Amino acid sequence: MLRLILLGAPGSGKGTQADRIKESYQAIKISSGDLLREEIRKKSDLGLQAKQFMDKGELLPDALMIGILEKITQDFEKRGQSYILDGFPRTLPQAEALMEMMKKQGVSPSSVILIDVPEDELLRRLSSRWTCKNCSATWSYPEGKADNVVCKQCAGELYQRDDDKKETILNRMEVYRKNTEPLIRFFEEKGLLKRVQGLGDPDSITVRIYEILENI
Ligand code: AMP
Repeated sequence: MLRLILLGAPGSGKGTQADRIKESYQAIKISSGDLLREEIRKKSDLGLQAKQFMDKGELLPDALMIGILEKITQDFEKRGQSYILDGFPRTLPQAEALMEMMKKQGVSPSSVILIDVPEDELLRRLSSRWTCKNCSATWSYPEGKADNVVCKQCAGELYQRDDDKKETILNRMEVYRKNTEPLIRFFEEKGLLKRVQGLGDPDSITVRIYEILENI
C-alpha cells in the first residue's frame, strides 16, 4: 500500500504530479485544497469558514485540518486503499499529528517527495494558472485565456482561483516559507525526504518521481 506525501510550494506541481502517478499505484489523491474548494462550492459550514482563510492565502486552523485528514486517512487505512497526500501536512503540528496517527496504526509514509521549484517560476506559474471547475486540472495561459477555451481533459469550464491573484500569491509564498518549509527538515531528519527538481516539462518530473517510488 502506498502512503505518499508530496511537499512543495503552491504552484510546484504537486497536484498535477499526484494525478499522473495515482493510477499506476491504484492510489487516490487527497488534495486538502480541492476538498475545501468543494465545501465552498456546496456552501457548507466548513466551506464558509474555509473561504475566509483561503481568500487571504492564510492557512486554516491545524486542529480543523488534522480532524478532517485523520478521518480520511484512517478510513483509507482500514480499506487498504493507497493514497497520495497533496497539501497536507502544511505545518509542523500537522506533520507531527500525521506521524503519530500512522504510528498508532503501525505504519509509516512510503516516502515524502519534495518538488523543488524556484520562487520566480512559482510566481509566474500561479499568476497564469487556470483551473477546471469540473476536474480541478490546471492549465497555463500567461496572456489570459480566450473565451472559448475549456479544459483539455474534460471540456469543463476554466476559472482563475481567487487565491491565484498577485497579492494573495505573495502571501501564500510567505505562509509557505514560514509554516511549510520547516517540514523539509522534519522529514529529512526522519530519513524520509526525497527531492525532485521541479523545473522542466511535467513528463520528466513524473519520470523522476517514478524512479524514487520504484526504489522504496
Ligand atoms: P492548495 O489548493 O493546496 O493551494 O490550498 C488552497 C488553500 O486551502 C490554502 O492556501 C489554505 O488556505 C487552505 N489549505 C489547504 N490545505 C491546508 C492545510 N493542510 N492546512 C491549512 N490550510 C490548508
